[in-house]
Amino acid sequence: KDSRKYTGMVEDCCCDYETVDSINAEVLHPLLQELVTTPFFRYFKVKLWCDCPFWPEDGMCRLRDCSVCECPETEFPEIFKKPPRGLPSDDLVCQEGKPQATVDRTLDSKAFRGWMEVDNPWTNDDETDNSEMTYVNLQLNPERYTGYAGPSARRIWDAVYSENCPKYSSGEICQEKKVLYKLISGLHSSISIHIAADYLLDESTNLWGKNLELMHDRVLRYPDRVRNLYFTFLFVLRAVTKAADYLEQAEYDTGNHAEDLKAQSMMRQLLYNPKLQAACPLPFDEAKLWQGQSEPELKQQIQKQFRNISALMDCVGCEKCRLWGKLQVLGLGTALKILFSVNDQNYPDQILHLQRNEVIALVNLLNRLSESVKLVNEMGSSTENIMGGL
Ligand code: FAD
Repeated sequence: KDSRKYTGMVEDCCCDYETVDSINAEVLHPLLQELVTTPFFRYFKVKLWCDCPFWPEDGMCRLRDCSVCECPETEFPEIFKKPPRGLPSDDLVCQEGKPQATVDRTLDSKAFRGWMEVDNPWTNDDETDNSEMTYVNLQLNPERYTGYAGPSARRIWDAVYSENCPKYSSGEICQEKKVLYKLISGLHSSISIHIAADYLLDESTNLWGKNLELMHDRVLRYPDRVRNLYFTFLFVLRAVTKAADYLEQAEYDTGNHAEDLKAQSMMRQLLYNPKLQAACPLPFDEAKLWQGQSEPELKQQIQKQFRNISALMDCVGCEKCRLWGKLQVLGLGTALKILFSVNDQNYPDQILHLQRNEVIALVNLLNRLSESVKLVNEMGSSTENIMGGL
């Protein structure tokens, strides 16, 4: 008997749960797991020490594991240090505020012109400012349990939800308002799943492993949190496949020829995967959004809320949580930029430009979400068995 708990279409998406699970297990997860180990995708540029703009910092981290180990100067690719090109001035056309700014499903396929130094309009950090940036090897700093909890962590999640993406009522019909909440809730589920999947079970013996009870208590027993995780996964997957032509042409150079070719080839397998295209050709349909009269204002409001959420990442009182918080918020901001800030049909001059770091964040975020979906799928029933027996 099929013991699946989640069946039918993922809410507001175009694929069903069974298909997402099988395509993820068969294709996406193995591919992404390997892709993120290549030199291009494992070094992330981040400003880790910024003052919290909202309240004095009160780090609550009790584990040594909270700290991030930075790359020595010699480790990260030389080419990453060279300043990339600035944006050509004729491309600085802002589509926000134009009433016709509806979303189109296509992107200029010949758009990649080298990595650009561009700011992401959805995030608070100035991505063109390279001062105080450090490079981190993500493989050496996995997202896992750090012991960061209590009022400091709670205050951030509370501010994220109450001020910046309030939960919509069940009668809410404005799709766009629901999207922001679901993206953040899906990301929150994914963070909680990674905490539970890589947990310090016994401090005295330094034993790490899965904490199934925690996974059940924080995520699995709330069906909407699981649904939001699948939604966020499909949203980010759609952004990646929408930018397929751009990402296929992009340069994955780090100076390590064999590894760079591997990254390029795996990107191609991800972007034009026949199994994915057959099973789930349009994971999310962004063209259904932003069609009402007040859409330009609504888009600006949602962009402002997302920027506030991104600013809150500077208040996270644990270095490693801040690293992954910043990376995943930049990844989501990049997905939002691809899906909602670029439109070639009405505005041919509105061309997609991405920073190398944005693509690194986007792909690493997709990998994190893919891993969470796999864990939920695998552990859903086993945790329920365990919880039933408790
Ligand atoms: P929390 O996860 O803090 O949740 C707070 C409240 O939010 C819950 O009571 C519930 O009402 C609501 N909520 C919970 N989940 C959802 C959801 N999916 N959708 C909607 N609402 C929800 N800790 C680590 O150990 N490692 C990390 O890498 C890490 N990264 C973090 C990154 C960020 C940006 C932040 C803010 C915190 C991070 N933390 C991390 C801390 C971690 O997220 C928890 O805050 C902490 O473990 C305490 O958990 P809690 O049980 O109090 O609930």
